[in-house]
Amino acid sequence: MATEELYFNPDKETASQDELISRQNELLKDRVRYVMANNAYMRDLYTKAGVVAEDFRGLEDVEKLPIIAKANFRETYPLGMCCVPKKQIREMHMSSGSTGTPVVMPYTIYDLNQWAECMARCYRMAGALPGDPVQIMPSFGLFNGGFGMYHGARAAELFVIPTGSGNTERQIRLARDFNTRVFTAVISYTARIIEVMEKMGVDLPNLKIGIFGAETVTTAMCEKIHNRLGIDVFNIYGMTETGGVGTLGMDCCDHSGIHVWEDHYYCEIVDPVTKKVLPDGQVGELVVTSLTREALPVIRFKTGDLTRILSRSKCACGRTHLKLDLISGRTDDMLIVKGVNFFPSQVEQALLEIPGVHSEYQIIMEEKDGVTDVHILVEAEEGVTGYVVEKRLKERLGFSPKGDVLPVGSLPRVEGKAVRVVRKKL
Ligand code: ADP
Ligand code: ZN
Repeated sequence: MATEELYFNPDKETASQDELISRQNELLKDRVRYVMANNAYMRDLYTKAGVVAEDFRGLEDVEKLPIIAKANFRETYPLGMCCVPKKQIREMHMSSGSTGTPVVMPYTIYDLNQWAECMARCYRMAGALPGDPVQIMPSFGLFNGGFGMYHGARAAELFVIPTGSGNTERQIRLARDFNTRVFTAVISYTARIIEVMEKMGVDLPNLKIGIFGAETVTTAMCEKIHNRLGIDVFNIYGMTETGGVGTLGMDCCDHSGIHVWEDHYYCEIVDPVTKKVLPDGQVGELVVTSLTREALPVIRFKTGDLTRILSRSKCACGRTHLKLDLISGRTDDMLIVKGVNFFPSQVEQALLEIPGVHSEYQIIMEEKDGVTDVHILVEAEEGVTGYVVEKRLKERLGFSPKGDVLPVGSLPRVEGKAVRVVRKKL
């Protein structure tokens, strides 16, 4: 393949780590000055923390900046952290609200182009070439998934089939009729597609690439999708606060971690409790700074996502941008039962290792008199018993949740992010 087919922006994607760090240093200084000059809330926050724009030296001073969180967005709803006049805003998106009041992200035309560039790099990194039919299955609306995939596909010169979410039979018919080569979706929706394809008896031989994200992606789920659809599965990462899907990055065909576009974002991994920056390799909470956003650049935003930096050396794909491990969970997703901490992703990984188990499951947390019991509902083929499920979970998690096996099709299907944890008070 020619170089231009492997990269969307070869110079930037293969810049040396030295170049990237020096650019990050300049951009960080610039963003600190910019938010202090253009936003009263941030100026106040930084002034109280003793930050003086003119004295701020860049990366070496980064830990002097206070960490911000979703709470700062909520406190300033709707546009209190915006740095540009309202008439410069061209689009807005809002988080899906998995963890409370949704967060609003405004975009200038410059931000929309920045988003398109990051997303287009992801498409090219997955092997999507100009003219390739791409079916965009996240919803088009306030959720950033649909439009992010769209802006990027325009920049990458793909043939956009903007189906949005739902109507699974039609999705499959269109993919067959238009020889769709690339699927983009919220990962849990792919399980639904596979289910309906089997019912319809349709195969999609032209489908080669799946770009999935928006929620925790386990290797077991990727393997299942890869085996059933015969496609290369990519894990795309981003969030409303950084400017939407794909802004942070994606794994490449080497599948050895998520490349983060370091010329646009600066990553730190911090201890979730002490907020101290951790060395590479250690698992902690990702704190991210958007270095090139205009309407609302986040500086040291605590994502709640748990991961670690796997590598900063040049990858087999030729890219130099650091690689993060798969997101193992969100700090607010962590479940604690009888002194044992675990994440829904660990339950998923354990369940999908059992032959005959399907992708739909729920973790029911039942609290009675201050004691929590865990009950796992999972869809599986005949022959898989509750005992098998309980035994596997005991081996993997270190305690025994009750396992109930249900016939395939029993659990509710959702179009957006899957609801895996249900809390009940008895
Ligand atoms: P929220 O779900 O917080 O309402 P968003 O809709 O902006 O907000 O979703 C962003 C969040 O989704 C991320 O912080 C992360 O928890 C999750 N997410 C997105 N992509 C991935 C991915 N590839 N792997 C794991 N989690 C992801
Ligand atoms: Zn790579």
